[in-house]
Amino acid sequence: MTDTPFKTLKTLYNDMDKTWDKIALGYHFICNGCEDNCCTSLFFHHTYIEKAYLLHGFNGLDQEQKATIKNRADIYIKKTFSDNLKINTLKIICPVNENGRCLLYPFRPMICRLHGLPHELCRPGAEPVKSPGCRAGLFDGKPYIKFDRTPFYKQMAQIEMKFRRDFNKTNKTKETIAQMLIYP
Ligand code: SF4
Repeated sequence: MTDTPFKTLKTLYNDMDKTWDKIALGYHFICNGCEDNCCTSLFFHHTYIEKAYLLHGFNGLDQEQKATIKNRADIYIKKTFSDNLKINTLKIICPVNENGRCLLYPFRPMICRLHGLPHELCRPGAEPVKSPGCRAGLFDGKPYIKFDRTPFYKQMAQIEMKFRRDFNKTNKTKETIAQMLIYP
């Protein structure tokens, strides 16, 4: 797949990163990794375009890196999803993380980009739903800096809708990074 379908996605990611950086700066928060590493959280991703972009980045790695990551992804899936379809919420590091570094950092999905800071989501006719930041940020003792994720989610939904139309994707998707890599 060429880079073209990803143009608007990259612009959106860039906006997210800039907003995140600005708000983090307001809190004097620098993410240096921590024991409560967010790359060990069991995140599910729901967009085909983000999967395609992640795979686009993955395909650019060398053969050895790809084989190593796939091996880790395989183990991740076996440990997380048991035969009776029960999900084990173990703290397993994402297969793409190597020595604390994301090997697909420019291609990481939205949820990896937005994680960490206190934020809110607004649904029509309802009060905003606020969520706390990660423990490493010690945000509880700091005044909240408004971080509304809603416009990002809306833009992502539009980009995803177009991608689904263009590439004839009709089913819902819900996958971990490991599943995206093993079941491309
Ligand atoms: S894709 Fe990268 S940032 Fe996201 S969980 Fe995996 S290693 Fe962490």
